[in-house]
Amino acid sequence: MRIGVFVCHCGRNIAGIVDVKTVVDEIAKLKDVVFCTDYIYLCSEPGQKTIQEKIKELNLTHIIVAACSPSLHGITFSRAVEAAGVNPYLFEMVNIREQCSWVHSHNPELATKKAISLIKASLAKLRYSQPLTPIKVPLIQKVLVIGGGIAGIRVALDIAQAGFEVCLVEKSPSLGGRMAQLSETFPTLDCSSCILTPLMVEVARHKKIHLFTYAEVKKVEGIIGNFKVTIEKKPRYVIPEKCTGCGDCVDVCPVVVPNEFDQGLGARKAIYVPFPQAVPLVYTIDFENCLNTEKLIICEQCFKICGPKAIDFLMRPEEIQIEVGAIVVATGYELLPLEALKEYGAGEYEDVITSLDFERLISASGPTGGILRRPSDGRIPKSVVFIQCAGSRSPEQGRPYCSKICCMYTAKHALIYKHLVPDGEVYVFYIDIRAAGKRYEEFVQRVMGDGVLYLRGKVSKVFRHNEKMVVLGVDTLSGKTVEVETDLVVLAPAIIPSKGAQELAKMLKIPVDEFGFFSEIHPKLRPVETTSPGIYLAGAAQSPKDISETVAQASAAASKVLSLLSQKEATLEPIVAYVDKEICKGCGLCRRVCPFKAITIVREDKKRYAKVEPAICQGCGCCMAICEENAINVAGFTYQQLSAQVRALLEDKYEVSKKTAEFRKI
Ligand SMILES: Cc1cc2nc3c(=O)[nH]c(=O)nc-3n(C[C@H](O)[C@H](O)[C@H](O)COP(=O)(O)OP(=O)(O)OC[C@H]3O[C@@H](n4cnc5c(N)ncnc54)[C@H](O)[C@@H]3O)c2cc1C
Ligand code: SF4
Ligand code: SF4
Repeated sequence: MRIGVFVCHCGRNIAGIVDVKTVVDEIAKLKDVVFCTDYIYLCSEPGQKTIQEKIKELNLTHIIVAACSPSLHGITFSRAVEAAGVNPYLFEMVNIREQCSWVHSHNPELATKKAISLIKASLAKLRYSQPLTPIKVPLIQKVLVIGGGIAGIRVALDIAQAGFEVCLVEKSPSLGGRMAQLSETFPTLDCSSCILTPLMVEVARHKKIHLFTYAEVKKVEGIIGNFKVTIEKKPRYVIPEKCTGCGDCVDVCPVVVPNEFDQGLGARKAIYVPFPQAVPLVYTIDFENCLNTEKLIICEQCFKICGPKAIDFLMRPEEIQIEVGAIVVATGYELLPLEALKEYGAGEYEDVITSLDFERLISASGPTGGILRRPSDGRIPKSVVFIQCAGSRSPEQGRPYCSKICCMYTAKHALIYKHLVPDGEVYVFYIDIRAAGKRYEEFVQRVMGDGVLYLRGKVSKVFRHNEKMVVLGVDTLSGKTVEVETDLVVLAPAIIPSKGAQELAKMLKIPVDEFGFFSEIHPKLRPVETTSPGIYLAGAAQSPKDISETVAQASAAASKVLSLLSQKEATLEPIVAYVDKEICKGCGLCRRVCPFKAITIVREDKKRYAKVEPAICQGCGCCMAICEENAINVAGFTYQQLSAQVRALLEDKYEVSKKTAEFRKI
């Protein structure tokens, strides 16, 4: 064993506190350490080169790098040592920046001692390390995309255009997501439908894309390269292949209900398409409101009039199984429900509406044909108050985050309102203006100069007085309370994760953040990958995003998928559990705790023992922790390695008692 240890200064980040020279002197004295040195930036090209040259020159077999966090540069260094001929699992990285110089910045002596101690512990572990080889699994060249908003559409098109098959699952009857509901889009004010619908049509026509609308993913099993997915197609009660989209059925349907696409501000029939440009243009019967229930048949008007005989009241949910190599989650967002915004009179007064309601009211294809009318009496509002950050940036409500898009779309709303009602008055209550995208600041400045009054302050109350809404707030710039009488109040509610995101995350075994948005591995370095290999993120499912950012991230996710699919096999980390058949008693405790269902109990002759499927195992170590016989170990983190590491850490402080040593039967 010929160990090389490299200690990084990280500029002054480490060397400003930790005495790296003392660290090098102490470590150089240890058994098997053939070479120990320090360097200003080990992650730089010359830094990596130094490591590689020393490996070759001194025939080093095991390497330790004491530097920053392994999550930042673990891969950089393991690739560097591998390129120089050392198995990357005979390499250890010790974090002496976050764990030493940063946390003990006021005590350099302690930081230095701790750095030495941590390197010693790593060395103890390394003595028991074995070379490991990555696991290869076959890769199905097909991708599942969940969510058919602009993010899912862009991902699907990018992958399909590269020649790979895509299954796109959208839970509502049409593609389009929220973007389909928008009127014009900031900052260019182009018509949302005009840029979106051609893409929707392209998806539906693409030979490589299998579109499942009005469908949901019910089950996901397997791992990167080999996911087995069950999709449930909900019954439309209309046969898609026969429906010509003529709409004859709509004229005769007697049931009128609020149209959710128009935010309930317009109406639709029980048989409907969400909006005229829907893709696919196939009608759906909303069976909850249809009169033709199983118990009481009193209406079959649509069935009778439908020329192509497309109506089928006996349609049932249908399950489809598919196999894919990778999955992209693009399930988007919702707005905070009105019940959570009672202080603004939301849900109580018809003339307190949300930003999406406003989008529908100003949309040429909306319920009022693009003429802005307030919901209570249909009058054109002569004044509007916009309230930003309704429920966002609110730590007291558990939502400290910024919803990111509201400053911009409120500016857009104010501008469009001024176009529709040139003599109308507009007030915008805001906390800060965040307009950091390309041409965004210019857009907001243009709106501010267009007769829109921006008031910096929070609104405390909204109530009705006769025909008017009254908004009470504070102008923090002048320090005065403000009372504005207005015809319409428009809230910009917090952006929250889409319904069912938590359940989907559980099904896919990927984490969500504290607010329920899907989490990436690393926000800067691996922003579209999840901790489950082969599962990627796109769009507002990850955090609030505007369309440009959504589309850019969707293409990033597609490129990650394409780089995966460009290989015939997927490569998996070999840090997986393995069983010592001789010791294992086959009790099944490990099988019960394994969150990934990677363990089965098998019988051979008369012996029962646990068997791990390496392609499924994620190396979490639950099995290893519960096994009373120490029969199951995770490669790279065995009892032997971990105990040696812990004992080395304790060595300086305590005499390791005999009992402790025996505890893990080393
Ligand atoms: C009022 C308002 C105005 C806006 N104006 C602008 C603007 O002018 N310019 C701009 O750049 N941005 C604007 N935005 C932001 C824009 O809406 C988003 O950037 C964009 O919609 C994000 O796209 P997405 O595909 O990630 O999510 P979404 O549009 O939410 O699409 C997600 C899709 O996934 C589906 N889905 C959800 N869960 C599942 C599931 N479990 N299975 C299958 N399907 C599922 C949903 O039905 C939906 O179709 C605005 C937003 C609001 C609220
Ligand atoms: S059967 Fe249902 S969907 Fe068809 S016309 Fe009657 S109410 Fe409408
Ligand atoms: S390490 Fe985790 S995933 Fe692997 S077999 Fe053990 S419990 Fe299951």
